[in-house]
Amino acid sequence: MELIIVKGDITKIPVDIIVNAANSSLLGGGGVDGAIHRAGGPAILAECLEIRARQGECKTGDAVITTAGRLPANKVIHTVGPVWIGGQNEEEEKLKNCYKKSLQIADDYGAKVISFPCISTGIYRFPKRLAAELSLEVIKSYKCRILEKIIFVCFDEESYDIYHNLLDS
Ligand code: ADP
Repeated sequence: MELIIVKGDITKIPVDIIVNAANSSLLGGGGVDGAIHRAGGPAILAECLEIRARQGECKTGDAVITTAGRLPANKVIHTVGPVWIGGQNEEEEKLKNCYKKSLQIADDYGAKVISFPCISTGIYRFPKRLAAELSLEVIKSYKCRILEKIIFVCFDEESYDIYHNLLDS
């Protein structure tokens, strides 16, 4: 499995599956979630609403899959990262579950290339370095079935540097 770190906008990079850092309502929000719904168009929200009607909200650490609408991808996986409230509320385990669950769903779907944003490190305030360490821990121990390439898309220079430092060390 190939691991790539890039700096940029996740909605612009062609892949099989884009992972979205959603919130439990699945109704869209700010940050990367807003960018994904804007670029993908209304078909994504329509499917999120169907899922909500079927199963209710999406729990923290869990994930659901929808169409990617007009995005350069086949599907979007919406995963709900934990809000950082000090670190004593199972935030680490929940963040790891987001990455694990997304990889499993992508493999079940048959995706070869998946892109991740830095889940929870924006509005949800998870410390960036710790989040990057946990994401790499999950990805390195995950046994890919179909997946061949994992792309971390960092929106800011700081996250990009953190990933490069962790991979170099
Ligand atoms: P959360 O609520 O999970 O913290 P945010 O969307 O606020 O979600 O932030 C998650 C990460 O996504 C942050 O590092 C933020 O800088 C980044 N981000 C925001 N917009 C984009 C985008 N278009 N492409 C990739 N990453 C993005």
